Amino acid sequence: MWVAGEWCAASDDATGEVLNPATGETIASVPRATIADVDRAVDASRTALNAPEWKAMDPAQRGRILNKMAAVTYQHAKSLAKLESENNGKTFREALSEIRYGAWTLEYYAGMSDKIEGSTIPVPGPRLNYTLRQPLGVTAHIVPWNFPLQLALRSIAPALAAGCTVIAKPASWTPLSLLSWARVIDEADVGLPTGVLQVLTGSGAIAGDALAGHPGVDGVVLTGGVPTGQAVMAKASENLTPVTLELGGKGANVVFSDANLRYAAKAICFGIFMNAGQMCWAGSRLLVHHDIHDALVEAVCAEVSKWPVGPGLEDGVRMGSLVHQRHREDVLEKLARGLKDGGKVVLGGNALDREGAFMEATVVTGVLPTNSLFQEELFGPVLTVTPFETDEEALKMANDTPFGLLNGVWTNDLGRAHRMARDLECGMVSINEYPITFPQTAFTGWKHSGIGVEQSQDALRFYTKVKNVNVKL
Ligand code: NAD
Repeated sequence: MWVAGEWCAASDDATGEVLNPATGETIASVPRATIADVDRAVDASRTALNAPEWKAMDPAQRGRILNKMAAVTYQHAKSLAKLESENNGKTFREALSEIRYGAWTLEYYAGMSDKIEGSTIPVPGPRLNYTLRQPLGVTAHIVPWNFPLQLALRSIAPALAAGCTVIAKPASWTPLSLLSWARVIDEADVGLPTGVLQVLTGSGAIAGDALAGHPGVDGVVLTGGVPTGQAVMAKASENLTPVTLELGGKGANVVFSDANLRYAAKAICFGIFMNAGQMCWAGSRLLVHHDIHDALVEAVCAEVSKWPVGPGLEDGVRMGSLVHQRHREDVLEKLARGLKDGGKVVLGGNALDREGAFMEATVVTGVLPTNSLFQEELFGPVLTVTPFETDEEALKMANDTPFGLLNGVWTNDLGRAHRMARDLECGMVSINEYPITFPQTAFTGWKHSGIGVEQSQDALRFYTKVKNVNVKL
């Protein structure tokens, strides 16, 4: 782990094994942080926050450091992607594009570090009144296993741009890319003062919980499941610590009869079978107009049948392994439970009969909104299909889950597209492509999909505190 500028073991020397899910082999063992380790990291983070090297650093200099971090990330992107693929099961191509996206996020916020402005406020009388936006402080970043490095960089970048200090904790299944990235950043000597950025590895139940409830932590950013979000928020509430939560999703692609079916079919496959469906923003539901139902289902099945499934580092593979055997069991169990309530498997439906946590791309038609397959996040390569007749029915079904992250709308009718965008109950809508996001656009969920905003200028609000100053002249 990287604590107070040193590479260290856990205080009790405990370690956990890290596997390659495509082979089941142990590829590393990493420390399991204790509560004492969390205390030490939080103390070091506070010291770094208040040290003049960071506190008084010219904001433009923070930006230059972030640019150097981006450059180092691009430079090592291929070796980091290889490691990510080995540890998570995803394809090398996916891992590489994610890591480059993480580097781009660092660049984006590098340019923001000296543009975090307050305001002057017209108040009555001979007074000057203004606001300062000051760093939130010590921030804890609890990261999931599905995009291990990219999601860490997504919140590390704005936190550093705003002048906060960072303690990042990867998921215990996938700690290697974040550790290795921190190592190359450390070795490149980009100019980050000691302790500004730290990485703790270990379990959510011990290290994650201790970070969320620590009185020395000023903000907690979690990307994870809904129950974890609830636990983190409850824990953070003990100290009234603010949280940003990016949680689950149950995205729908709503396809109207005037859509371009060829593009739609490709994007629908990408939206649910990329990363073997282990995505919060997966388009796991296809809502399709009755008239084009059969043609689109056929096009989707034909498209994904062309995707070779196999180890992420093998040439030509389009869908890698799931992250862990245990996770695959969970997906298959949820699929079997849902099928008891109806639905017909028209493609896949099974584990692959080979070593590793592989699963077939699966398409289930005739899934009613009452079915758990329609309501629950499976977090695997399972697409449900539900037909609709009218725009109103499509909208009602799209909104009929506890989640509200990303939904897609497929139509060439401009009025219909914008009406849907207005009325969908979710943080993000994409029209005629799926899924899509950029560092400069908000990544945000409504309802059970989360609290707060990642990416974009809006994310910086979380990492700064507003102070109002009044001056009697
Ligand atoms: P998870 O909730 O199991 O774990 C996420 C992180 O939280 C891990 O680092 C884990 O160690 C930690 N954690 C677990 N229990 C904790 C606790 N009690 N206190 C503090 N920390 C704890 O999630 P996962 O299985 O790694 O990832 C899958 C979930 O993440 C899915 O639900 C997915 O939708 C969600 N996700 C959301 C987004 C988004 O941006 N909205 C992005 C990716 C993943």
